[in-house]
Amino acid sequence: MGKKCIGIDVGGTSVKIGLFETTGDLLLKWEVPTRKEEGGKYIIGDVAASILKTLEEKQIPMEEVVGAGLGVPGPVMPDGSVEVCVNLGWHNVNPGKELSALLGGLPVKSGNDANVAALGEMWQGGGKGYENVAMVTLGTGVGGGIIVGGKMISGAHGYGGEIGHMCINTHETEYCNCGKRGCLEQYASATGIVRMAKKALEASEEDSVLRKADSLTAKDVLDAAKFGDAFAVKLTEDFCRRLARGLSFVSCVTDPDIFVIGGGVSKAGSIITETVKKYFDGYVFGSQKDTKFGLATLGNDAGIYGCAKLIIGTEK
Ligand code: ZN
Repeated sequence: MGKKCIGIDVGGTSVKIGLFETTGDLLLKWEVPTRKEEGGKYIIGDVAASILKTLEEKQIPMEEVVGAGLGVPGPVMPDGSVEVCVNLGWHNVNPGKELSALLGGLPVKSGNDANVAALGEMWQGGGKGYENVAMVTLGTGVGGGIIVGGKMISGAHGYGGEIGHMCINTHETEYCNCGKRGCLEQYASATGIVRMAKKALEASEEDSVLRKADSLTAKDVLDAAKFGDAFAVKLTEDFCRRLARGLSFVSCVTDPDIFVIGGGVSKAGSIITETVKKYFDGYVFGSQKDTKFGLATLGNDAGIYGCAKLIIGTEK
């Protein structure tokens, strides 16, 4: 029997846990609820208990497990400590250390959830076969993760890969959730697409199916664009142009082989990758134009894959 590893993706409502072969096959996955009460102090204990119970049920001895990776929805310092994680109520904790102690000293490595998702997509998803991958997740916000030479970039303060909070518009008057103005997230997230669509609809009289939508969503905008609604096409072009500009900055810094686009908005498919690529090529030069654009393929499992890869990467 081969060696095993565990990927643990801590989310605001549930913790996803995956048991993997170190070769990359997912053997089993399950979830435990995230208990956020009392500063989230029960979360790691719940995870440890659930892992021990599952290994026992499946009759897998701990000696077969090489380690576990832990994805945290906030910045993680290089030593695995978390100063603050608003979503979980954590302050000044080292969840990886805590988990390792509860699992009999099993090696545990922690990372930011968006960064580990990128690692997962590089390992077994949309970026498979490449070592230089930048992932951008277009959901309620815009998340990012950068892999260079197969290694996840977290940086000195755990903010490496925060693509969503690059300032791409110095003239913006509205504030981003982070407290700054003009962040990529304000235009390229699902929320941002709706915000820009509503502004554009108010500012013009142009006919569009979007005027008939009860509560407008990013999917409405992209669907209407696919059906050729001229107004929705303009909105889609505008959002892809802004995203492309942000990604061209990333390209100038890390020069990835491929940008992997994930998150709810990416379900619109090739309309996004193709339109972003078209504008991206106008913002870069030379061989940067060979940069590929693909869609994420692991969905919500990217985190557990990346966490598993996190520990395999360190074991080498
Ligand atoms: Zn921001």
